[in-house]
Amino acid sequence: MSAAERALARIDLSAIERNAAHLRSLLRDGTALCAVVKADGYGHGAVWSAKAALAGGASWLAVATAGEAEDLRRHGIAERILVMGALTREEQRVAREAEADVVAWTPEVDAERLHVKLDTGMGRLGTRDWKEALRLARGDRVVGLMTHFATADERGDDYFAAQLERFREFVEAVGRDDLVVHAANSAATYRDSEAHFDMVRCGIAVYGLDPFGEDPADRGLEPALSLTSWVAAVRRFEAGASAGYGRRWTASRPTWVATVPIGYGDGWRRGVAGDRDVLIRGRRYPLAGNVSMDNVTVDLGSDTEVSVGDEVVLIGEQAHERILAEEVARRLATINYEVTCALSPRVRRLHVR
Ligand SMILES: *Cc1c(COP(=O)(O)O)cnc(C)c1O
Repeated sequence: MSAAERALARIDLSAIERNAAHLRSLLRDGTALCAVVKADGYGHGAVWSAKAALAGGASWLAVATAGEAEDLRRHGIAERILVMGALTREEQRVAREAEADVVAWTPEVDAERLHVKLDTGMGRLGTRDWKEALRLARGDRVVGLMTHFATADERGDDYFAAQLERFREFVEAVGRDDLVVHAANSAATYRDSEAHFDMVRCGIAVYGLDPFGEDPADRGLEPALSLTSWVAAVRRFEAGASAGYGRRWTASRPTWVATVPIGYGDGWRRGVAGDRDVLIRGRRYPLAGNVSMDNVTVDLGSDTEVSVGDEVVLIGEQAHERILAEEVARRLATINYEVTCALSPRVRRLHVR
């Protein structure tokens, strides 16, 4: 492999396209798929991901910030874009120039196309004031009604149903049939077709990551992103020799240690020392010692064929083994969303089909 690349995130655009098509297949006719490409497409590259999702059947895009909408427009994307986040005055101006739809929960938000957000229990953005929401929803620039679920990924809880019920009552009270009504994120899209309304807003599932933190394949999803690096050194360690800051790992027996040039500066988070595997030559090996900013060390064992230049897979498949972002997330006590969002600009994104 080319040593020009310390670490590489390869993004399979056809997987994104297929994931979007799969999500579409879960919807009844007339329900639109909005692909959420905020935070640079959850680390996958917003513009590339947006185009792939549109090719797969998404017809709307959503982002968090006005700058993200502007970036999509700059790259020639003409489809409807919904900016979901809170916007300063200046950001409202940027959103207007990008001809984006924006979310409103106070009369101060000014745009050509507004989606009124009722906070049915997420407790973050949106108004909790039913009357205020009704008043806003009667505005002539209102084109959509929305809410957001707090617990769609926690199957079996009652809160989701309560939020859904409150939103349904709101939609009925508004009583307009010219509005795009939307509530579901990826988890809600899988969980309950009653939550689909006119459009679903799917992010994580579009990238082939599982909204429930389980195996994406069980939900018909294909992970689009793989993360690789390479073996930059292989060295013999005698028992008692240590690797890395703080000497968190010491060889308990004579062994070989590989140095791999990826670290938390690349977004490969430090987390729990040694509690993560990587794949080399189709086999799992544990990290040895702390992750540093630019490198990790890997315990290859007392007898190894691994040599300098070998590919190292941190997320993805190699031979018959695979490491899912969900596995990495579990080991770091976080969620798959954070694993791909954390990948820093230092990791080159290679978009392939
Ligand atoms: C991020 C976001 C989504 C997408 O959520 P996923 O779980 O990634 O599908 C949908 N709606 C809102 C308001 C969001 O902020």
